[in-house]
Amino acid sequence: MKRRKFLKNSTLSTAGILSATLLTSCKEQEPLKKSTINTPPIKPIAICTWNFLNATAKAWEVLNAGGNSLDAVQQGVMVEEADTTNQTVGVGGRPDRDGNVTLDSCIMDKNGNCGSVVYLQNIASPVSVARKVMEDTPHVILAGKGAEQFAYEKGFKKTNLLTEQSKKEWLEWKKTSEYKPIINIENHDTIGMLAIDKNGDISGACTTSGMAYKIGGRVGDSPIIGAGLFVDNEIGAATATGVGEEVVRTVGSFLIVELIRQGKTPQEACEEGVKRIIAKNKDNTDFQIGFIAINKKGETGSYCIQPGFTYRSYSKEGHINIPSKSYIKS
Ligand code: ASP
Repeated sequence: MKRRKFLKNSTLSTAGILSATLLTSCKEQEPLKKSTINTPPIKPIAICTWNFLNATAKAWEVLNAGGNSLDAVQQGVMVEEADTTNQTVGVGGRPDRDGNVTLDSCIMDKNGNCGSVVYLQNIASPVSVARKVMEDTPHVILAGKGAEQFAYEKGFKKTNLLTEQSKKEWLEWKKTSEYKPIINIENHDTIGMLAIDKNGDISGACTTSGMAYKIGGRVGDSPIIGAGLFVDNEIGAATATGVGEEVVRTVGSFLIVELIRQGKTPQEACEEGVKRIIAKNKDNTDFQIGFIAINKKGETGSYCIQPGFTYRSYSKEGHINIPSKSYIKS
Protein backbone atom coordinates (compact mmCIF):
# COMPACT_ATOMS: atom_id res chain seq x y z
CA MET A 1 0.00 0.00 0.00
CA LYS A 2 1.29 3.43 -0.89
CA ARG A 3 1.62 5.83 1.97
CA ARG A 4 2.46 9.47 2.25
CA LYS A 5 6.20 9.77 2.38
CA PHE A 6 6.50 12.87 4.47
CA LEU A 7 5.19 11.77 7.80
CA LYS A 8 7.42 12.53 10.69
CA ASN A 9 7.43 9.84 13.32
CA SER A 10 7.75 12.10 16.31
CA THR A 11 4.90 14.31 15.18
CA LEU A 12 2.63 11.33 14.90
CA SER A 13 3.64 9.87 18.24
CA THR A 14 2.89 13.16 19.91
CA ALA A 15 -0.55 13.08 18.38
CA GLY A 16 -1.05 9.93 20.42
CA ILE A 17 -3.24 8.26 17.88
CA LEU A 18 -0.87 6.42 15.68
CA SER A 19 1.99 4.09 16.21
CA ALA A 20 5.01 5.01 14.17
CA THR A 21 8.00 3.03 13.08
CA LEU A 22 11.28 4.74 13.68
CA LEU A 23 13.55 4.61 10.74
CA THR A 24 17.14 3.95 11.53
CA SER A 25 19.57 6.53 10.34
CA CYS A 26 23.03 5.42 9.39
CA LYS A 27 23.47 7.78 6.52
CA GLU A 28 26.35 10.07 5.89
CA GLN A 29 25.52 13.68 6.64
CA GLU A 30 26.76 16.48 4.46
CA PRO A 31 28.37 19.38 6.31
CA LEU A 32 26.40 22.56 5.69
CA LYS A 33 29.05 24.57 3.93
CA LYS A 34 28.77 27.66 1.86
CA SER A 35 27.72 26.61 -1.61
CA THR A 36 28.93 28.13 -4.80
CA ILE A 37 26.35 26.27 -6.84
CA ASN A 38 23.88 28.54 -8.52
CA THR A 39 21.89 28.77 -11.69
CA PRO A 40 22.52 31.51 -14.25
CA PRO A 41 20.04 34.42 -14.10
CA ILE A 42 17.18 34.00 -16.55
CA LYS A 43 13.65 35.35 -16.79
CA PRO A 44 10.75 34.87 -17.25
CA ILE A 45 10.81 31.60 -15.37
CA ALA A 46 8.50 29.27 -13.43
CA ILE A 47 9.75 26.74 -10.91
CA CYS A 48 7.85 24.30 -8.73
CA THR A 49 8.48 21.69 -6.08
CA TRP A 50 8.79 18.14 -7.39
CA ASN A 51 8.53 16.97 -10.96
CA PHE A 52 5.15 18.51 -11.78
CA LEU A 53 5.99 19.06 -15.44
CA ASN A 54 2.41 19.71 -16.57
CA ALA A 55 2.13 22.48 -14.00
CA THR A 56 5.32 24.27 -15.10
CA ALA A 57 4.31 23.76 -18.76
CA LYS A 58 1.04 25.57 -18.05
CA ALA A 59 2.78 28.36 -16.13
CA TRP A 60 5.27 28.80 -18.95
CA GLU A 61 2.43 28.98 -21.50
CA VAL A 62 1.03 31.93 -19.53
CA LEU A 63 4.42 33.64 -19.12
CA ASN A 64 5.47 33.08 -22.72
CA ALA A 65 2.25 34.66 -23.94
CA GLY A 66 3.14 37.78 -21.92
CA GLY A 67 0.91 36.92 -18.95
CA ASN A 68 1.74 37.99 -15.43
CA SER A 69 3.36 35.83 -12.79
CA LEU A 70 0.25 35.74 -10.61
CA ASP A 71 -1.84 34.15 -13.38
CA ALA A 72 1.07 31.84 -14.19
CA VAL A 73 1.39 30.39 -10.69
CA GLN A 74 -2.35 30.08 -10.20
CA GLN A 75 -2.95 28.35 -13.51
CA GLY A 76 0.15 26.23 -13.06
CA VAL A 77 -0.82 24.74 -9.71
CA MET A 78 -4.46 24.38 -10.83
CA VAL A 79 -3.26 21.66 -13.21
CA GLU A 80 -2.28 19.52 -10.22
CA GLU A 81 -5.38 20.41 -8.21
CA ALA A 82 -7.50 19.05 -11.07
CA ASP A 83 -5.44 15.89 -11.60
CA THR A 84 -7.32 13.09 -9.84
CA THR A 85 -4.30 10.80 -10.08
CA ASN A 86 -2.29 13.18 -7.90
CA GLN A 87 -3.14 12.07 -4.36
CA THR A 88 -1.45 14.94 -2.56
CA VAL A 89 -3.15 17.97 -4.11
CA GLY A 90 -6.76 18.97 -4.83
CA VAL A 91 -9.31 16.46 -6.13
CA GLY A 92 -8.13 12.94 -5.37
CA GLY A 93 -6.02 14.05 -2.40
CA ARG A 94 -5.76 11.59 0.47
CA PRO A 95 -8.23 12.25 3.28
CA ASP A 96 -7.72 12.82 6.99
CA ARG A 97 -8.15 9.90 9.41
CA ASP A 98 -11.94 10.36 9.30
CA GLY A 99 -12.12 10.14 5.51
CA ASN A 100 -12.53 13.87 4.83
CA VAL A 101 -10.40 15.50 2.14
CA THR A 102 -9.40 18.92 3.47
CA LEU A 103 -7.36 21.30 1.34
CA ASP A 104 -4.91 24.11 2.18
CA SER A 105 -3.64 26.73 -0.25
CA CYS A 106 -2.25 30.24 -0.53
CA ILE A 107 -1.16 32.72 -3.14
CA MET A 108 0.94 35.90 -2.99
CA ASP A 109 1.53 38.66 -5.53
CA LYS A 110 4.17 41.24 -6.42
CA ASN A 111 2.68 43.83 -4.08
CA GLY A 112 2.77 41.60 -1.03
CA ASN A 113 -0.96 40.93 -1.24
CA CYS A 114 -1.87 37.44 -0.18
CA GLY A 115 -4.83 35.13 0.28
CA SER A 116 -5.20 31.76 1.91
CA VAL A 117 -7.72 29.02 2.59
CA VAL A 118 -7.31 26.37 5.26
CA TYR A 119 -9.30 23.21 5.97
CA LEU A 120 -11.37 23.77 2.84
CA GLN A 121 -13.69 20.92 1.82
CA ASN A 122 -15.75 20.15 -1.30
CA ILE A 123 -14.01 22.71 -3.54
CA ALA A 124 -11.79 21.52 -6.37
CA SER A 125 -9.45 24.53 -6.71
CA PRO A 126 -8.42 25.96 -3.35
CA VAL A 127 -5.79 28.24 -4.93
CA SER A 128 -8.53 29.98 -6.90
CA VAL A 129 -10.51 30.54 -3.71
CA ALA A 130 -7.34 31.84 -2.03
CA ARG A 131 -6.95 34.33 -4.87
CA LYS A 132 -10.54 35.49 -4.35
CA VAL A 133 -9.83 35.93 -0.64
CA MET A 134 -6.85 38.10 -1.62
CA GLU A 135 -8.65 40.16 -4.23
CA ASP A 136 -12.25 40.36 -3.02
CA THR A 137 -12.03 40.55 0.77
CA PRO A 138 -10.21 42.64 3.37
CA HIS A 139 -8.90 39.38 4.89
CA VAL A 140 -5.95 37.09 4.31
CA ILE A 141 -7.14 33.71 5.59
CA LEU A 142 -10.54 32.00 5.48
CA ALA A 143 -11.01 28.63 7.17
CA GLY A 144 -13.31 25.63 7.01
CA LYS A 145 -17.04 26.21 6.58
CA GLY A 146 -16.56 29.97 6.18
CA ALA A 147 -14.10 29.43 3.35
CA GLU A 148 -16.44 26.91 1.72
CA GLN A 149 -19.42 29.24 1.99
CA PHE A 150 -17.34 32.07 0.54
CA ALA A 151 -16.36 29.82 -2.38
CA TYR A 152 -20.02 29.05 -3.17
CA GLU A 153 -20.80 32.77 -3.07
CA LYS A 154 -18.03 33.28 -5.62
CA GLY A 155 -19.53 30.65 -7.94
CA PHE A 156 -17.39 27.61 -7.13
CA LYS A 157 -19.26 24.30 -7.42
CA LYS A 158 -19.57 21.69 -4.71
CA THR A 159 -17.32 18.76 -5.71
CA ASN A 160 -16.68 15.36 -4.19
CA LEU A 161 -12.92 15.35 -3.58
CA LEU A 162 -12.59 11.76 -2.39
CA THR A 163 -11.85 9.53 -5.38
CA GLU A 164 -12.45 5.79 -5.33
CA GLN A 165 -8.70 5.19 -5.25
CA SER A 166 -8.05 7.45 -2.26
CA LYS A 167 -11.10 6.01 -0.47
CA LYS A 168 -9.88 2.47 -1.08
CA GLU A 169 -6.44 3.27 0.33
CA TRP A 170 -7.91 5.07 3.33
CA LEU A 171 -10.15 2.08 4.15
CA GLU A 172 -7.10 -0.15 3.91
CA TRP A 173 -5.12 2.20 6.18
CA LYS A 174 -7.94 2.13 8.73
CA LYS A 175 -7.41 -1.59 9.29
CA THR A 176 -4.25 -0.82 11.27
CA SER A 177 -4.20 2.98 11.46
CA GLU A 178 -0.46 2.61 11.49
CA TYR A 179 2.15 4.69 9.75
CA LYS A 180 5.26 3.20 8.25
CA PRO A 181 6.59 6.19 6.44
CA ILE A 182 8.84 5.54 3.51
CA ILE A 183 10.57 8.69 2.39
CA ASN A 184 10.36 9.65 -1.28
CA ILE A 185 8.61 6.49 -2.42
CA GLU A 186 6.16 8.61 -4.30
CA ASN A 187 7.80 11.21 -6.43
CA HIS A 188 5.25 13.94 -5.93
CA ASP A 189 3.78 15.94 -3.11
CA THR A 190 2.63 19.44 -2.25
CA ILE A 191 3.09 21.83 -5.15
CA GLY A 192 4.65 25.19 -4.41
CA MET A 193 5.31 27.35 -7.47
CA LEU A 194 7.27 30.58 -7.98
CA ALA A 195 7.35 32.63 -11.17
CA ILE A 196 8.87 35.77 -12.63
CA ASP A 197 7.14 37.40 -15.59
CA LYS A 198 8.55 39.51 -18.42
CA ASN A 199 8.26 42.62 -16.26
CA GLY A 200 10.44 40.98 -13.65
CA ASP A 201 7.57 40.69 -11.15
CA ILE A 202 7.45 37.70 -8.81
CA SER A 203 4.42 35.74 -7.53
CA GLY A 204 3.97 32.42 -5.76
CA ALA A 205 1.32 29.82 -4.94
CA CYS A 206 1.17 26.70 -2.85
CA THR A 207 -1.57 24.04 -2.64
CA THR A 208 -1.95 20.67 -0.92
CA SER A 209 -4.27 18.12 0.62
CA GLY A 210 -1.81 18.05 3.51
CA MET A 211 -0.55 15.12 5.47
CA ALA A 212 -2.46 11.92 4.64
CA TYR A 213 -4.66 10.54 7.44
CA LYS A 214 -3.95 13.59 9.60
CA ILE A 215 -6.11 14.41 12.62
CA GLY A 216 -9.26 16.19 11.47
CA GLY A 217 -8.64 19.94 11.61
CA ARG A 218 -4.89 19.75 11.13
CA VAL A 219 -3.42 22.52 8.99
CA GLY A 220 0.17 22.43 7.74
CA ASP A 221 2.56 25.04 6.44
CA SER A 222 1.30 25.21 2.87
CA PRO A 223 -1.44 27.85 3.38
CA ILE A 224 0.56 29.83 5.96
CA ILE A 225 2.15 32.94 4.49
CA GLY A 226 5.79 33.05 5.56
CA ALA A 227 5.93 29.31 6.25
CA GLY A 228 4.86 27.42 3.11
CA LEU A 229 5.27 30.44 0.83
CA PHE A 230 6.68 33.94 0.84
CA VAL A 231 7.19 36.50 -1.90
CA ASP A 232 8.99 39.84 -1.69
CA ASN A 233 9.06 41.34 -5.15
CA GLU A 234 12.17 43.39 -4.33
CA ILE A 235 14.12 40.36 -3.20
CA GLY A 236 12.78 36.96 -4.25
CA ALA A 237 10.49 34.16 -3.15
CA ALA A 238 10.53 30.74 -1.53
CA THR A 239 8.17 27.83 -1.01
CA ALA A 240 8.27 24.53 0.84
CA THR A 241 7.20 20.92 0.79
CA GLY A 242 7.52 18.34 3.53
CA VAL A 243 6.51 18.01 7.17
CA GLY A 244 4.63 21.26 7.56
CA GLU A 245 4.96 21.43 11.32
CA GLU A 246 8.72 21.89 11.00
CA VAL A 247 8.39 24.54 8.32
CA VAL A 248 5.93 26.49 10.48
CA ARG A 249 8.27 26.33 13.49
CA THR A 250 11.04 28.04 11.55
CA VAL A 251 8.82 30.25 9.34
CA GLY A 252 10.88 28.68 6.59
CA SER A 253 9.95 30.56 3.42
CA PHE A 254 10.13 33.98 5.06
CA LEU A 255 13.48 33.07 6.54
CA ILE A 256 14.85 32.10 3.14
CA VAL A 257 13.71 35.33 1.49
CA GLU A 258 15.26 37.33 4.33
CA LEU A 259 18.52 35.45 3.90
CA ILE A 260 18.49 36.33 0.19
CA ARG A 261 17.92 39.96 1.23
CA GLN A 262 21.05 39.71 3.36
CA GLY A 263 23.09 38.64 0.34
CA LYS A 264 22.82 34.87 0.15
CA THR A 265 22.13 33.16 -3.15
CA PRO A 266 18.83 31.20 -3.34
CA GLN A 267 20.89 28.02 -3.00
CA GLU A 268 22.70 29.23 0.12
CA ALA A 269 19.46 30.51 1.62
CA CYS A 270 17.69 27.17 1.10
CA GLU A 271 20.63 25.38 2.73
CA GLU A 272 20.44 27.67 5.75
CA GLY A 273 16.65 27.16 5.95
CA VAL A 274 17.13 23.39 6.15
CA LYS A 275 19.97 23.84 8.65
CA ARG A 276 17.65 25.71 11.02
CA ILE A 277 15.23 22.77 10.93
CA ILE A 278 18.03 20.26 11.47
CA ALA A 279 19.21 22.28 14.47
CA LYS A 280 15.80 21.83 16.10
CA ASN A 281 15.68 18.11 15.32
CA LYS A 282 19.14 16.82 16.16
CA ASP A 283 17.87 13.44 17.37
CA ASN A 284 15.62 12.58 14.46
CA THR A 285 16.15 13.72 10.91
CA ASP A 286 14.17 10.87 9.36
CA PHE A 287 11.71 13.15 7.71
CA GLN A 288 11.70 15.26 4.60
CA ILE A 289 11.66 18.99 3.97
CA GLY A 290 12.35 20.54 0.57
CA PHE A 291 12.70 24.25 -0.14
CA ILE A 292 12.96 26.01 -3.48
CA ALA A 293 13.78 29.68 -3.92
CA ILE A 294 14.31 32.32 -6.56
CA ASN A 295 15.81 35.80 -6.47
CA LYS A 296 14.98 38.92 -8.42
CA LYS A 297 17.55 38.04 -11.09
CA GLY A 298 15.85 34.71 -11.72
CA GLU A 299 18.58 32.65 -10.07
CA THR A 300 17.14 29.58 -8.37
CA GLY A 301 18.16 27.15 -5.66
CA SER A 302 16.85 24.26 -3.62
CA TYR A 303 17.82 22.11 -0.69
CA CYS A 304 16.24 19.24 1.21
CA ILE A 305 16.92 16.91 4.12
CA GLN A 306 16.57 13.53 2.42
CA PRO A 307 17.82 12.70 -1.06
CA GLY A 308 15.16 12.33 -3.73
CA PHE A 309 13.64 15.78 -3.88
CA THR A 310 13.68 17.53 -7.25
CA TYR A 311 12.22 20.72 -8.66
CA ARG A 312 10.97 21.65 -12.12
CA SER A 313 12.08 24.73 -13.96
CA TYR A 314 10.70 26.19 -17.18
CA SER A 315 12.37 29.15 -18.87
CA LYS A 316 13.89 30.01 -22.25
CA GLU A 317 16.74 27.73 -21.19
CA GLY A 318 14.40 24.75 -21.28
CA HIS A 319 12.03 22.61 -19.26
CA ILE A 320 14.10 20.68 -16.77
CA ASN A 321 13.83 18.59 -13.63
CA ILE A 322 16.62 19.59 -11.26
CA PRO A 323 17.78 17.20 -8.52
CA SER A 324 18.10 18.99 -5.22
CA LYS A 325 21.19 18.69 -3.05
CA SER A 326 20.36 17.12 0.28
CA TYR A 327 21.63 17.37 3.84
CA ILE A 328 21.66 13.60 4.19
CA LYS A 329 23.41 11.61 1.50
CA SER A 330 21.96 8.35 0.21
N1 ASP B 1 3.75 20.56 3.56
C1 ASP B 1 2.53 19.79 3.50
C2 ASP B 1 1.84 19.79 4.82
O1 ASP B 1 2.52 19.69 5.84
C3 ASP B 1 2.70 18.39 3.09
C4 ASP B 1 3.75 18.04 2.13
O2 ASP B 1 4.33 18.85 1.45
O3 ASP B 1 4.02 16.85 2.03
O4 ASP B 1 0.64 19.79 4.86
